Amino acid sequence: MRLCDYQGCDKPGEYPAPKSPHSDDKWWFCVEHVSAYNRNWNFFTGMSKAEAEKRAADDFREAAGFQNSGIYGWGGPEDRDGVSDVERQAYAVLELEPGADEHAVRRQYRRLAKKYHPDTGDGAEGSEDAFHRLRAAYEILKLRLGAQA
Ligand SMILES: [Zn+2]
Repeated sequence: MRLCDYQGCDKPGEYPAPKSPHSDDKWWFCVEHVSAYNRNWNFFTGMSKAEAEKRAADDFREAAGFQNSGIYGWGGPEDRDGVSDVERQAYAVLELEPGADEHAVRRQYRRLAKKYHPDTGDGAEGSEDAFHRLRAAYEILKLRLGAQA
């Protein structure tokens, strides 16, 4: 019998959950843990919050072409508004003021995702890159706003 993949859980793992949006790899969870996982993409304990933040920041930097911008380490120092360099860039990608709330971030993400998405957008050159950048920025801000909740 397959057990729930959540660390320390010994219930049957009957519910598949994709490890990442574009992956065929799956975790198998019990009903309690699959619903927790679906509520929170980085719920799985195999990745600490610090690792999740670092991965999101790396992905965003790569997507946004910031490799040589001199922003190193997660987030960088926070300025007086409590917004780090990377978060500021992520807000800029979403065309929002730094510090905009979760509601604004979600609304803007949905609007821009539609504009850039390969299936629904206008297919303009570079829109695929823009979509990747947008997704990466959204991950950054979800982590930030999740941390405040
Ligand atoms: Zn479980």
